[in-house]
Amino acid sequence: SIGTQALEVVQRYPDRFEIAGLSANNNVKLLADQAKHYRVKSVCLSDPANLEELLALLKTEDIEVLAGEEGLLELSGRDNVDMVLNGLVGAAGMLPTIQALKSGRDVALSNKESLVMAGSLIMELVKKHQVNLYPVDSEHSAIWQSLQGENPADVKKLLLTASGGPFRTREKSDFKTITLDDALKHPNWNMGAKITIDSATMMNKDLEVIEARWLFSVAAQDIEILVHPQSIIHSLVEFRDGSVKAQLGVPDMKVPIQYALTYPEHLHADWPTLDLLEIGNLTFEKPDMEKFPCIQLAYDALRTGGSAPAVLNVANDKAVAAYLQKKIHFTDIPGIIDSALEKHEFIPEPNFEQILALSDWTARFVKNKTN
Ligand code: MG
Repeated sequence: SIGTQALEVVQRYPDRFEIAGLSANNNVKLLADQAKHYRVKSVCLSDPANLEELLALLKTEDIEVLAGEEGLLELSGRDNVDMVLNGLVGAAGMLPTIQALKSGRDVALSNKESLVMAGSLIMELVKKHQVNLYPVDSEHSAIWQSLQGENPADVKKLLLTASGGPFRTREKSDFKTITLDDALKHPNWNMGAKITIDSATMMNKDLEVIEARWLFSVAAQDIEILVHPQSIIHSLVEFRDGSVKAQLGVPDMKVPIQYALTYPEHLHADWPTLDLLEIGNLTFEKPDMEKFPCIQLAYDALRTGGSAPAVLNVANDKAVAAYLQKKIHFTDIPGIIDSALEKHEFIPEPNFEQILALSDWTARFVKNKTN
């Protein structure tokens, strides 16, 4: 959904943007339509199963067709692009982020897993190659916007707002009866399936805490989750003097997407804007750690550091995939992540290869548990 929304932004400013390449996982029809409509030079199909179909659809076009992980890396490192918007879902997004940064491209990052799995290594690449990493997620965009003109040393803490997901008010004793349809209904945001389930377990927010730690160089104990069911305040920064800055807006991903693409400008947009009088009340709650055990798992993994966040992430990825295939129950997800964390061979300072090897191990571990 990030990709299609980004194209809506781009469509408004045809004189400012040119789409050099597009990738899709397996949605061949949409990819072909978009490629023609935006006169894209190259496309990549990550899951090559339907490659023949894509080639047939683009037969008469002058469009380069790439495929698989190799194709993605090729596309991410091309030197005819200024910026790579990475909206890939899951651990598969890490290597393209690395490739783009190493090739000297700015990255607008919507793939959470890149920073969750390899935050310290990726921030090193940003420094080394003197490139920019712009957050696309609404919470990180809010923090980024609140930090404009500020000295990082003045920051006391970050408050990441969370809608609380579809089960915020559901009793813990009723969690056993949660169906897949229940979990796929997000109250405020329109997102892909994986991230919607992550919102239901609150793992989405937990991954965002880990990302924020790397993006803004703030320690885990200075990052708090604040449940705010209306999703109007997208996050806040508290400074040393007690001053607090926040960014507000209607929950629409096009706003943070556009800001990442046009930073430091706030360009005109004609989508609905915030009407606080109509909203009336903004409310806040503490996250329920009992109902959402993923929160504690993620904070623990962040404090442990090293390989723990990568294992947390891949275990979650695969557990959510098993849940989407109805192989496990909603309440099984945290336990599976916990056992992967416990059983894995901890590495204090893993390199990219070790992170990838651990990812494979974790994927196999979860597969054995869920099949
Ligand atoms: Mg978010």
